[in-house]
Amino acid sequence: MPQQPNPQQPRKQPTGKKPGFNLTWVYFAVIAGLAIMLYQGNSGSAGGQKQEVDYSAFRAYVQKGYAREVVVDKSESEVRFVVQPQHIREVFKAGSDKVGTRPTVAAKYPTIDKVTDFLDKNYKGVVRYEESSNYFLQLLGSLLPILLLVFLWFYMFRRMGAGGPSGGIFSIGKSKARIIEKDGKNGTNVTFKDVAGLEGAKQEVQEIVEFLKCPQKFTKLGGKIPKGALLVGPPGTGKTLLAKAVAGEAEVPFFSMAGSDFVEMFVGVGASRVRDLFQQAKEKSPCIVFIDEIDAIGRARGKSSAMGGNDERENTLNQLLTEMDGFGTNSGVIVLAATNRVEILDHALLRAGRFDRQIYVDLPELSERVAIFKVHLAPLKLDPDLDVELLARQTPGFSGADIANVCNEAALIAARHGSEKVGKQDFIDAVDRIVGGLEKTSKVMTEEEKRSIAIHEAGHASVSWLLEHANPLIKVTIVPRGQALGAAWYLPEERTITTKEQMLDEICSILAGRAAEELCLGRVSSGALNDLERVTKRVYAMVAYYGMSENLSNICYYNSQGDYGFSKPYSEKTAELIDAEVKRMVAEQYDRAKRLLTENAEKHKALADLLCEREVIFTEDVKNIFGPRPWKSRTDVLMEEEAVKLAEARTRKLEAEEAKGEAEGAKGES
Ligand code: ATP
Repeated sequence: MPQQPNPQQPRKQPTGKKPGFNLTWVYFAVIAGLAIMLYQGNSGSAGGQKQEVDYSAFRAYVQKGYAREVVVDKSESEVRFVVQPQHIREVFKAGSDKVGTRPTVAAKYPTIDKVTDFLDKNYKGVVRYEESSNYFLQLLGSLLPILLLVFLWFYMFRRMGAGGPSGGIFSIGKSKARIIEKDGKNGTNVTFKDVAGLEGAKQEVQEIVEFLKCPQKFTKLGGKIPKGALLVGPPGTGKTLLAKAVAGEAEVPFFSMAGSDFVEMFVGVGASRVRDLFQQAKEKSPCIVFIDEIDAIGRARGKSSAMGGNDERENTLNQLLTEMDGFGTNSGVIVLAATNRVEILDHALLRAGRFDRQIYVDLPELSERVAIFKVHLAPLKLDPDLDVELLARQTPGFSGADIANVCNEAALIAARHGSEKVGKQDFIDAVDRIVGGLEKTSKVMTEEEKRSIAIHEAGHASVSWLLEHANPLIKVTIVPRGQALGAAWYLPEERTITTKEQMLDEICSILAGRAAEELCLGRVSSGALNDLERVTKRVYAMVAYYGMSENLSNICYYNSQGDYGFSKPYSEKTAELIDAEVKRMVAEQYDRAKRLLTENAEKHKALADLLCEREVIFTEDVKNIFGPRPWKSRTDVLMEEEAVKLAEARTRKLEAEEAKGEAEGAKGES
């Protein structure tokens, strides 16, 4: 007797943990179903053996009256019957204990008309006509598409949910944040020491670590702990590195996620992941949440509605805005985010109360580059004569990531040459390679082409030497590199602002390549494509953005928010004026370059000849031909000021030591 449930017995309490959804059960159910169907499909012959005979033998059996339950299977062209129990032994030469109680005899019939006619005349019972006897195949045929769809559906869900913490479809709305615990679990070993330079930015994030470690210090005076800080700056300047250092230094849990991790093809998943992330963070408060490349979700809302919109991204952003400063309080959760496109972020995200602080992480200055070089040179085996400052001076405009790349490339170059140590030349080659691409010594050029390139490059070098604000040259080569046929390296000044005169001088020196070709060869070539592109962009920016042209002064059509879309913010008439101004300014600088080259034709020719002969020339060679430049560059001035400061500090230290020595001497005498 089955046991009745005992009402007295306490019911099993749910454990709080839902039974796990396991895809294996689905597979199992499908396979079991198929097996059952297979069994049923074959059950037509269940209950006895089947004997195949030819059609004439079949006819003989029917005429003798052995047949019952005759079936004509049209799809198989088969006719069969169950043998009458009393005739089993005659047909099978064995009893029903061996062949079963319902053994069948089957035969292939010649045509359906013949078999029907024969049965009408010789068989008294009812004949069953079938299209197919294999139910299983029939069923499978109709079920297969559905089964395939079900399988694909599960497979897709499984794949999409696979990235979640526990996998499966139900984890799709969970955040994919990587948690770095305070006890060093999954921890990074990056600390503030690994981040070179960036003193200002470092100080600001260090303060955030302080807020979390010791909030009372700030709250006792009534201040509130900031909710978030946004690290903004060009690519490769160390924003992610800084965040990793915060994770390494802060003794609180650190949740790290990329903006794109919120995005999924399902509606509502992004918002749900944001909710889940903050839920987890609140449970572990105080803690830091870091969202890298936040522009993937933080882009200004409502801009792209004309193009179909992206409601999913907007929902995710709305949820983020609510979590950061909605009704919910996230006490103790500080959000750090990084982006290099702050201008496209939604204003609501940037307002105080959400990202209270914007920390600018800019391209490193000379002294910062020295520090970054020192960090990345530490693991290399270096030539003791290597001058780190020189390396830093030769890499203006390089980001931290570029510098890391230079150091690695130099080590690879040294290894390729079989050197024991990485030397100065390896670094110079690495910088050249990164700036200009790989040298293509195999490219075949005629003498005429070589001369043309030398004249072009010498044009740039001469004019940039002769103009006060143009960048002084470091090296010119006519060996093709990357896409370029020749290349010139300059030492750009590290300026915070650029004047109109500086811009015009640079434009003039860029145009000097083509001007030299026209003057010396009487024709121009396609080699100036890159120069012309740069010039056009710069002059357009001067006219339309910086308001630096005479006829369109002090007007800026630049829009940092990018909300003009496809329409121009000025009239057709103004567009024509902009075009005219751009043309005029380019023509003026081109004429200026030609004039300078004509005035210094001899020197320009000497430089071009030297370049043809040696293929590579350096600052010293230009100085020998043109004489020293009468102007000092800003970098020179800065270096001199630095040297003066150092000398003053050294003198002060010496004086202090002397005074101390004298005082001690006087004490000894007394
Ligand atoms: P992106 O905006 O493209 O994501 P990012 O600003 O986040 O760039 P990181 O990923 O932090 O750049 O930096 C890339 C690499 O550059 C670092 O792993 C590190 O090796 C090097 N680097 C950048 N800045 C510094 C620095 N100040 N000191 C030492 N190394 C640095």
